[in-house]
Formats: sequence, structure tokens, C-alpha cells
Amino acid sequence: MGEIDHISGHTKTIAVVGTPIKHSLSPAMHNTSFTHLGIDCVFLAYDVADEKDLEAAIRGMNALGFIGCNITMPYKTKVLQYLDELSPAAEIMGAVNTVVFKEGKAIGHNTDGAGFMKNVRDSGVDVIGKKITLVGAGGAGSAIYTQAALDGVSEIDVFNRKDAFFEQTKQKIVSLADRTGCKMKLIDLDDQDALRDSVAQSVLFVNATRVGMPDTPNQSTLNPEFMVEGLAVADTVYEPRKTKLIKDADSRGLITIPGLGMLLSQAAIGEEIWVNAKMPIKLIEDKFFN
Ligand code: NAD
Repeated sequence: MGEIDHISGHTKTIAVVGTPIKHSLSPAMHNTSFTHLGIDCVFLAYDVADEKDLEAAIRGMNALGFIGCNITMPYKTKVLQYLDELSPAAEIMGAVNTVVFKEGKAIGHNTDGAGFMKNVRDSGVDVIGKKITLVGAGGAGSAIYTQAALDGVSEIDVFNRKDAFFEQTKQKIVSLADRTGCKMKLIDLDDQDALRDSVAQSVLFVNATRVGMPDTPNQSTLNPEFMVEGLAVADTVYEPRKTKLIKDADSRGLITIPGLGMLLSQAAIGEEIWVNAKMPIKLIEDKFFN
């Protein structure tokens, strides 16, 4: 049970909207943070089961004076049509995970890519002006390659299996490369020779697919034999905490960057946007993830 004794007529609201939503860790993380920081705000989760109610949900939160909200699956792209403005990164990604309501306007941001890049920096890995290899061009993958290109990574090889995400990505990376000057290539994940060569030239390998989640605990998108000395290895998957990919890299003595840090960092960037405060990342990690 949450502590509600501090709630008054002054208390502000932030929410996460998606479906399903009951499993979301966001209310627990943000409410712990707000209590710790003394911010008079509550964070709640709302299940919008039917897409036709999304517009009313956004307009309703705005009308009720919510500070903002997170948007999660399956609405990260569908929500765009109901927003008044987008941050540059959200506009290029075509996806929003954080909304702030300001002077009657709904403004969309995307903190997934920025959260990933912060987590990489915080792990002591410098990718600016260097090459990275990324597997996965879905929501998380496109947020990462977009932010990485905007931040000044010089070259990104994006691998994906030949599914709908592959087709969607072709044009996106051409315009992103034009806009940022980052050298970008989209390659079929079946081309394992190309993957080995790419990883050998990269400072960082990133898994942004669903591979490694609890339904595929013994799978990884990178053959451990391709892991070379000096490579850092990052995962977006945070459940389990240590995926096969991270364990393989750990056992070779490489720097590893598990997905939990990205989750915490994107939440912290959200709090900065909403309430201009620094989320106590370590406290949240110790309380909910140890
Ligand atoms: P998505 O559905 O948008 O994309 C799925 C991606 O996985 C696509 O690139 C698809 O081609 C690939 N894929 C799926 N099955 C595959 C397989 N068997 N082999 C190879 N590729 C496969 O999903 P998403 O929102 O991008 O999420 C991807 C992962 O990122 C999930 O594990 C999710 O939990 C994680 N994620 C983590 C954070 C975080 O904060 N750490 C944030 C967002 C997403």
C-alpha cells in the first residue's frame, strides 16, 4: 500500500498511460522519488484499453492540470496526432514516451534514447565520434540510433532481421544520416559475417531486440566469439537483470551496460522535464531492483 497521508488539494498528478499497465514499475519508482525529494505530486497508472479513448485521455489529463504523463506500449507512436508540439528527438523518432502539459499545450518528448546515452556515459564508455553496432530497429532501437546520431556518434551499423521493422527503417536512417552527418547502414541480421566485422570496428555493441527476455533466456543476438577486447556491451532488456548477452560479455571481462540503467535514466530524465528535479537513482535501484 502506498502512503497517501501527504495528498492534499495542492497535490499535482503525473501518470503512465498504456495497456496492459498494472505491471508498470513507474508509479512505485516516481512516488518513492517524489516522497524522498518532498515534491507534492502523485504518479498513477491508467490502463487505456481501447485506442479510441487515447485522445480523450490526453485532453482529459491536460484539462485536469496534470503535470505530464508517460506513454507506453502500444501508444508511443499513436499519441503523436494528439500532441501540440514535439521535441526535436521525438519528432525525428516519430515516437513519444513522455508528455508535459504546459500552458494548455501537450508537448511530446522521447527519453528512451537520451536515457540510453546517459547510461552509457555513466558507465564510463565514450561513443562520441566513434562507431557503434546496434541490433534491433523497433521502438527502443530507433530511439537509440536517433539519439546516438544526434549526440555525435560518427558511425552506426543497424542490424535487424527482415521483418516489418527492417522495411520501416530503410528511409528513416537515410534522412537521419543526411540530417546529422552520421554514417549509417541497415544490414540483415542473417549476415553474420557483416555483424562480426562491424563489431570488430565498434566501441559498443547494443542489443535492442526482445531477445534475452524471460521467454528466450538462453538466447543472445551476439555470438560470444565476436566479442573482441575493448568492446563494451549494452542490453536494453532489463528483465532478467543479467541477460545471456551480458553474462557472455562479463565472462570475457568486457565492460557491460545492462538495460536497468537505461530504464532508470529515462525515468530520471522524465522527472527533470516534469518537475525539474534529480531523481535519486541509487535509492530507487536499491529499493526496487536489489
Ligand atoms: P519493438 O516491438 O518495437 O521491437 C522489437 C525488436 O526486436 C525489433 O527490432 C524486432 O525485429 C526484434 N526482434 C524480435 N524478436 C526477435 C528475434 N527472435 N530475433 C531477432 N530480433 C528480434 O520492441 P521495443 O519497444 O523496441 O523493445 C525492445 C526491447 O527493448 C524489449 O526487450 C524492451 O523491454 C526493451 N526496452 C527497454 C527499455 C529500457 O528502459 N531499458 C526501454 C524500451 C524498451
